[in-house]
This record gives sequence, structure tokens and C-alpha cells, in this order.
Amino acid sequence: MASTRFDFSKWPPALSDTQLEALTLYATTYALSHSLLYLPPAQFQPPIPSSAIHAPLSLFPSPVPRRLFDLARRLQSSYNILYARIATDVEFLDKVMGTVEGVGRVDDFVGQLWMGWKRLRDEGMIQPLQLGLFRSDYLLHAGAGGESVSLKQVEFNTISSSFGPLSQRTAVLHRYLYATTSYYNAFPSMKAGDFPANDTTAGLVEGLAAAHAAYGAKGAKILFVVQPGERNVFDQRLLEYELLEKHSIPVLRQTFDQLATSTSLDLSTRVLSIAGAEISVVYFRAGYAPTDYPSPVHYETRFLLERARAIKCPSIALQLAGGKKVQQVLTQPGMLERFLGDADLAELRATWMEMWALEEGVQRARDAAAGLVLKPQREGGGNNVYKEAIPPFLDGLPPAERAAWIAMELILPPEGMGGYLVRSGNDAVRAEVVSELGIFGWALFGGADGTVEEKEAGWLVRTKGKESNEGGVATGFSVLDSILLV
Ligand code: ADP
Ligand code: MG
Ligand code: MG
Repeated sequence: MASTRFDFSKWPPALSDTQLEALTLYATTYALSHSLLYLPPAQFQPPIPSSAIHAPLSLFPSPVPRRLFDLARRLQSSYNILYARIATDVEFLDKVMGTVEGVGRVDDFVGQLWMGWKRLRDEGMIQPLQLGLFRSDYLLHAGAGGESVSLKQVEFNTISSSFGPLSQRTAVLHRYLYATTSYYNAFPSMKAGDFPANDTTAGLVEGLAAAHAAYGAKGAKILFVVQPGERNVFDQRLLEYELLEKHSIPVLRQTFDQLATSTSLDLSTRVLSIAGAEISVVYFRAGYAPTDYPSPVHYETRFLLERARAIKCPSIALQLAGGKKVQQVLTQPGMLERFLGDADLAELRATWMEMWALEEGVQRARDAAAGLVLKPQREGGGNNVYKEAIPPFLDGLPPAERAAWIAMELILPPEGMGGYLVRSGNDAVRAEVVSELGIFGWALFGGADGTVEEKEAGWLVRTKGKESNEGGVATGFSVLDSILLV
């Protein structure tokens, strides 16, 4: 059937100033009432928080073609299994991320993590099971010419995949705005069925609870490892409350600094405990960036947790599997087959952009700079080099460090799409935007029989102003959003 093509440049529909003001009031009040919140910057906050601000948000959901949303969700199961298998392929990870042949040679952070993992492997690890709470991120790709819009993967996150609970709330916020205002009939074909359900909190917690059950100790607690001064606490706390309320599993929250003195590890059983409570699962919402390890003690704390019997989410192996280098190596012939056998992989592969190792194609990167992004092995936003910044960056990059970077073709989102974005304390602004879709999933794996227990776990949309290369709600460039199926 020939489907009518959605015209992204006509989005969002026009509203009057009065309508926009009313919608903003409905949205911010709803957000403040429903934990769609952030802590204000530290200078406005006593040590024990006494106030919160609403998270940055979009007033309208963003249009996503139904077939591409269905595709992204369908692929999640394959991605869950793929990354579970990568994390258990020690030979592959050593080669790609290790300090002998891999990225660890030139990237100190990757090298530190890999060497710590290697040392623990040589000593003998006690817990084969690993848990991943993943998020596969995509942009819509309009391409150069008249072809229809397609789904392209930005990256696959294996550590600290955030904004599950807040994006669930953003989806409900948009449903509420529609139910309350009908969006002033500015887009008359909109119907309630075009707002997909989004059950991230229950989905992600199901993964944590599955790992807790697999650990199998009555009275044990789950440990959340968090950053000091974290402003996105409500997104984390909502997981914690769900664990307690729906699964009767208590949670402890600690920073690496606190863990350096609070933990004890029984050397014969490798049971990890904190203040007398046994820890079943260690869930990292910290530890993904070098700044989380300001001293060798911080690395030693990470390795102590890795040594323990508790199930790690993620293990160091799974964290390394999430490196951009792995994403690039997967595009090489035969690599996907190594992990997923002879399943029909065309659909999965069709979501990838062209990628190559920077060390193997510096001139190619210079020539193609206008349509390219360079990425190092980092998470959390703000680390990539784009377009015209690439040639001068390459001029200054010591050749030995090229091995730490990959080159990736830029995804080209539909031109002219707009949004109404609201930041705490400000009026809504209409801006040209780009929306990034993330699909959450979890996997529990590593047992002797090789099975991977896995599920899709809801979705996220973050929308950024078009002029900003990077997304990242936490880094201040984008807002939380949801989906209107078109
Ligand atoms: P991080 O792990 O730091 O989030 P990403 O690979 O997600 O790194 O890159 C950060 C942001 O840069 C993305 O959210 C997206 O906005 C932009 N970006 C990354 N890769 C591409 C690409 N190939 N095409 C267009 N934009 C990209
Ligand atoms: Mg990202
Ligand atoms: Mg990332």
C-alpha cells in the first residue's frame, strides 16, 4: 500500500501565543506533580535537597513513522543477544579493547579497565552471570535524495543507560496534554492510539529483579553506584522505589568514594556486603567516564566490586563491549555472523551507517569530513568531533592516538522539523530540532548453558536544537520528548 509520506517540515503545528502559554502551564504543572524532575545546579541546593525543577521538555511529541518504531522495537531482542554474546567473547574483547592489540594500547581509560579485568580473570572470577540494561539509540535518516526516511543507529549503550523512568513520564505527559487540550486541534488527524505506551520503569526493574533472583540470597540488597552531585536523581530513585514496592528488594545508593570505606568482601565466599547487608546486584550509574576515577583508589574500588560474587550491571566486559570501537568492528565482513550465526541479519545491518577505524582511513576522513563524525571511546556526550572541526583536529592528533577513534558517517535527519522546547523558568521556544529515539532492553546471561534471558523495556526520545551537534539532556543540550506515530 502506498503510504502518504509524513512532511516533517510541517511539524509542529502552529499555536497562538495564548495557546502556547496555556500548554506550557499544563505541562510544567504536570511535570512537577509527577516526578518529571531534576535537581537544580549545586549552587542552588543545600546538601540535603529542598527543591527540584521540572526536567527540560518538549510540548509536542515527535513524529516517528510507525514502521520504523516497530522495526526499532523488533530489533532490540537481536541487539540484546548480540551484546550479551560480545561480552562473553573474551578473545574478541581482548583483541579489540585490550592493551596488547586493541584500543587499550592508546586509550588510558579503556586500558585501565581492561587491565583490571585481565588481572581478575587470571585470579579467577566467581560470578559467571552478567546483567545489561541497554539502550540502542537511533536517528531518522532522510538521506540525500527522495528515498523514504529510514532508521539508523547512533550507538549502543551498555552502561548507565539513563532516562527510562523520566521518559515514561514524558510519554504520559503528552497523552495528558492531548486529552486535556486536544492540542487545540492544530493537528486534527492526531488520535489517542498514535501515542505508544511506554513501560520503562517496570521493564528495567524486571531486569534488575531477574538478576537479584538469579543471585538467590534472601534479604540481599541491590547496590546503585552513583556519581556525587548527581542531578538526575529522580530518574534513579524511581527505579529504586519500584524495586521496593513491586519486588520487595531494598536498594543502597553509594558513590565510589563512599564504597572505598563501606564495603567488605569475604575472600572465601566473595560475598560483598555493606553495613551487614549482602549485595546481590551492583548497578552502575557511575563509572562510565574517566572523571569517575580521579585516583587509583577509585579503580581499585571498581575492581573490588568486579571481584565480588554480586552480579554486575554491567561487568567490565560488558562495559567494554559497548565501546564505539566494537560498533565499528561489527560492520566488518563476517563479524555479525560470528555472534548471531546465520540468522537473517539484513534488517539489523540496514540500521548501520558506514564506519571505519580512523587509523586505517585518515585521508578518507579528511576528504569526507563534511559528512562525518569522529568518536573516541567515551560515554556521556561532548566527546565527538564533527564536520569542519575534523581536519584541524586531525592535524593536532598524534598518529599513535588514531587507534582510539572511529569515523562514522553522519546520519541526516529530516530537514525543517521543529519543536516547542521548555526549560525550567523559561517560556517555550520554537526551534528547528533533531529527535533521537532510544529503545531500552535488558539481558541476563553468562551461565554455563549459554542462554540469554532478555526483553525490550520501553523507549526514550530526546530532542535537541538542530544547531547543536551533540544531544544529552544531562549536558543541557536537549529536552525529554515522546513519540507520535505517523
Ligand atoms: P555518547 O555515548 O557520548 O552519547 P553518541 O555516539 O551518542 O555518544 O554521540 C553523541 C551525540 O552525537 C548523539 O546523541 C547524536 O546527537 C550525535 N551523533 C553521534 N553520531 C552521529 C551520527 N552518525 N550522525 C549524526 N549525529 C550523530
Ligand atoms: Mg549517546
Ligand atoms: Mg553512549
